[in-house]
Amino acid sequence: MNLHDFHEWSISDRESFWREQAYLIHWHKPFTKVLDYSKPPFARWFVGGETNLCYNAIDRHLSTRADKPALIWESTETGQSRSYTFRELQREVMRMAAIMQSLGVERGDRVVIYMPMIPEAVFAMHACARIGAIHSVVFGGFAAHSLASRIDDAAPRLIISADAGSRGGKVVPYKGALDEAIERAAHKPEHVLLVDRGLAAMPRMPGRDLDYAPLRERFLDAEVPVVWLESNEISYTLYTSGTTGRPKGVQRDVGGYAVALAASMKYIYCGNPGETFFSSSDIGWVVGHSYIVYGPLLAGMATLLFEGTPVHPDAGILWRLVERHRVSVMFSAPTAIRVLKKHDHALLTQYDTSSLRTLFLAGEPLDEPTARWISEGLGKPVIDNYWQTETGWPILTVARGVEDTPTRLGSPGMPMYGYDVRLLDIETGREVGPGEKGVVSIMPPLPPGCMQTVWGDDARFVNTYFGSLPDKLVYSTFDWGIRDADGYTFILGRTDDVINVAGHRLGTREIEEELVAHPAVAECTVVGMADALKGQVAIAFVVLRDARLADDPKQRLALEQDLLASVDRSLGAVARPARIVPIPALPKTRSGKILRRTIQALCEGRDPGDLSTIEDPAVLEMILAAVRPQG
Ligand code: ATP
Ligand code: MG
Repeated sequence: MNLHDFHEWSISDRESFWREQAYLIHWHKPFTKVLDYSKPPFARWFVGGETNLCYNAIDRHLSTRADKPALIWESTETGQSRSYTFRELQREVMRMAAIMQSLGVERGDRVVIYMPMIPEAVFAMHACARIGAIHSVVFGGFAAHSLASRIDDAAPRLIISADAGSRGGKVVPYKGALDEAIERAAHKPEHVLLVDRGLAAMPRMPGRDLDYAPLRERFLDAEVPVVWLESNEISYTLYTSGTTGRPKGVQRDVGGYAVALAASMKYIYCGNPGETFFSSSDIGWVVGHSYIVYGPLLAGMATLLFEGTPVHPDAGILWRLVERHRVSVMFSAPTAIRVLKKHDHALLTQYDTSSLRTLFLAGEPLDEPTARWISEGLGKPVIDNYWQTETGWPILTVARGVEDTPTRLGSPGMPMYGYDVRLLDIETGREVGPGEKGVVSIMPPLPPGCMQTVWGDDARFVNTYFGSLPDKLVYSTFDWGIRDADGYTFILGRTDDVINVAGHRLGTREIEEELVAHPAVAECTVVGMADALKGQVAIAFVVLRDARLADDPKQRLALEQDLLASVDRSLGAVARPARIVPIPALPKTRSGKILRRTIQALCEGRDPGDLSTIEDPAVLEMILAAVRPQG
């Protein structure tokens, strides 16, 4: 079947389509109804069916591949590496589950996991899944303030953490932030389970804090049976990246998610049992949940858990890992690749990456020069995916497991099966034609794997996501898109990233694309700044490949003029940035997303708001210094 017919089928007859996909996983008890959509926009998938994510990811493979690798851990931070077969992974998960049960954790209880990228974090997530506890993983880089609000939102019985993580060779202690967060939070967990890596001092609070290692010894031989869960019970909650303000607790089910992931492994990522999948994301993000912890294992693949950064000890580390573990499928983010672009190109070809079939990138717009650079450098296809924490798996990409579809530079691809994607005019809600800009929207019901609701706040789910058009129930992604005549969709940026220069609405992405195409520019971002005359003007912040260029006034001026001329040529003079500011780095969220709104606030002299998710706050100072009126 070709991709078009496959997609047609998934939309015109959801029941038969998803019934067929449901058999990619094991059901302890068969479902009685594929879809219950009696209460729009809430969709319930595989009603009455009983299954378990941990069982499908681990136990199910024991009869065929018990002694094959399941979890491979590499830490370039501590120099450690470990590998667990499916049997060993099951053992560790049962030990963790037994500890959790001994601490009173039951089906439906929440467990907050605030951990670095260590195997115990994966054990903990699967242990929750195994016994029906709801995990809420909070990214390890978050500070006390953000952690506290998530603790209050989840109201966990147990928190699992560690003494420290490590980043770029520097130890990042966790326990202090955790204690402070619990102190601040109104909700107090009964217990805190701590993995002591021996990296940082870790005071324990008697009665509340417990050490993992001795408890693990106590439960060495524990057998913890799988708790079968109704498909619509909750597997986890996870907060969106927080690029645009107060994070939303995305709530996901069990059965729909398992089916959606298994299907994506088959049709999108094309991974086979026995192969290795490497996602360089973090377990604190949705990519980590879907494509480190669950997806690859569901497909019988080994998953590589990597504690480290793409440039430490050097910018060849990702490819060295590909070589060492014969990685077949890899998943990363455009940011990571743009960082590599600043380093020696030879590092791309120095390793034997022949096992690698495809590199998938997601999380933010993949600009053409970066896509071309990495694809040609590696000699591999690079496939962009567009999706959100809310959806759990790709909305737009190409599904090579269905049909060998060519990619188109700058576009993630087309709507995936299950997603009835429409581009809608932001004011009228009317569908726009090819070549016209519209809001990327999904006609409900959302397919399996997508969020069930906002944790504890059904009204926020309905109002936030389905409330943008007065007379239509449509899910809005809040991203702009444009479709070409062949159905390839291009993402132009977030609906609130549009700037209005003298009445012309410009997507900041279009200007960024133009600037980043210049060989001297590694990365850039464009924001709109209030201007008395024109309403708004564009300000461009550029990170140069060779930062020294900015130090020489003559070279700097020449580059600026070069950049402005290229914007003029391709987009017209209205799009021309009022200023081009070279800076050493861009402020990003911990997941690598550029914080445009924060930059904009700084430019306009406003309070930038909650900065807790920022990777490197020092960069903000540099921006402030650069935009502060001179003289
Ligand atoms: P918040 O919703 O809290 O503001 P966030 O939207 O950054 O945070 P995520 O769910 O991690 O949180 O990110 C999803 C968003 O990232 C998408 O809505 C889109 O704006 C952007 N995005 C993801 N993948 C792509 C891609 N391949 N191309 C372009 N944009 C992408
Ligand atoms: Mg979002």
